[in-house]
Amino acid sequence: MKNATKVFKFGGASVKDADAIRNVANILKDYSQEKIMIIVSAMGKTTNALEKVVQAYSKKTGDAFALLEKVKQEHYQVAMDLFGEEHAIFSLLNDTFVEIEWVIEDDQQDGYDYIYDQIVSIGEMASTRILAAFLAHEGQSVTWLDARDVIRTDDTFREGRVDWGITSSLCQQKIPGLFENNNLVVTQGFIGGTQENFTTTLGREGSDYSAAILAYQLNAQSLSIWKDVPGILTGDPRLFENVQKIDRLSYKEAIEMTYYGAKVIHPKTIKPLENKNIPLFVKSFIDPAGEGTLISTDVNVTYPPVVVVEPNQVLLHISTRDFSFVTERHLGFLFQQFDKYRIKINMMQNMAISFTVCVTERSERLAQLIPELEKDFKLVVDRNLELITIRHYTKDFVDTLSAGKIILFEEYIRGTMSMVVKEIPKMIRK
Ligand code: ASP
Repeated sequence: MKNATKVFKFGGASVKDADAIRNVANILKDYSQEKIMIIVSAMGKTTNALEKVVQAYSKKTGDAFALLEKVKQEHYQVAMDLFGEEHAIFSLLNDTFVEIEWVIEDDQQDGYDYIYDQIVSIGEMASTRILAAFLAHEGQSVTWLDARDVIRTDDTFREGRVDWGITSSLCQQKIPGLFENNNLVVTQGFIGGTQENFTTTLGREGSDYSAAILAYQLNAQSLSIWKDVPGILTGDPRLFENVQKIDRLSYKEAIEMTYYGAKVIHPKTIKPLENKNIPLFVKSFIDPAGEGTLISTDVNVTYPPVVVVEPNQVLLHISTRDFSFVTERHLGFLFQQFDKYRIKINMMQNMAISFTVCVTERSERLAQLIPELEKDFKLVVDRNLELITIRHYTKDFVDTLSAGKIILFEEYIRGTMSMVVKEIPKMIRK
């Protein structure tokens, strides 16, 4: 049975400054009689700024403290705009940042990924403190929840794997009581906690996934992800003219689109929702009355061509050194290496004496993987490529999108066409 609770997720752009936070509070006024779990990302580009703090700290560049101070001041400024100079929020924010100041005062002893999670997670801690305080200030019945107390992960820092069993009992113990006394519960996206109480993150852009986890655990009526676009579009409006909004999508179509790199929702978001048949709305926080896109069980619609462009692609051409065939044993070894260095394969092709894969550039991980493979294989690496995927392609569409490009690798599987391309260098006639 579905619970009456709804889950809303607000991303970084929707809470990027004081006006944006006021806008979120206005949207929530329309739902003031409902029970809503609100999942929030870090404000604006805070996660990127905190990643710079981590890098500065681990490379000992000497400016980690100053970079952190800048992030802290930005939060204080937003709080000042919303509340004036005197408010309990300042001491809450101070407590949030002080923990990290202590971390970076010490010399680094712990692993990079562990440190990353402890530092970067404060973006969500700070944004949720500010939003919850502002909703209370506006007279809403609201409380704040520490997501680390209800989302349990293992200790794979930066990519925490959720323990669904423990998460379920923690949610059952801790969440219903909060809704008895409040209509709104504000919590952080992107983060979880280990058994030893360390903070983990769920992977960049992971707040959608957090929202889906909580919607699943609460058996929610629906999940709404509020974005700066009117819904799911047929292409990225920053790259293409004339993109259209898609009104309805099946879970299957949505999972395929996100798998191929559509950034509009995190790829892990759909499965928990599909498993409990929870509808997902993708809506605009700029035009909250707009219909948005509804993602649910199979819908009978004919989809238009949908384009997903993934930049920063790398092709690895792997071949045997002695001209022998690539066998299942070789492939087994290769897949193990990709898994070991956590590199996701976007596309692959097996030929007699070679195996070609397309992966997203992750310089640090590839710098470890490539020498490992070179011990046994010959490798040619092609960088700075684009992966273009067209779902429900038509020939015209493929021709238009490949014009002026060299296609290095292509694949047609049922309705989906994928190609890895490189710009043809432009020559100007003298
Ligand atoms: N703040 C995190 C990020 O920027 C998580 C999220 O926004 O989904 O990756």
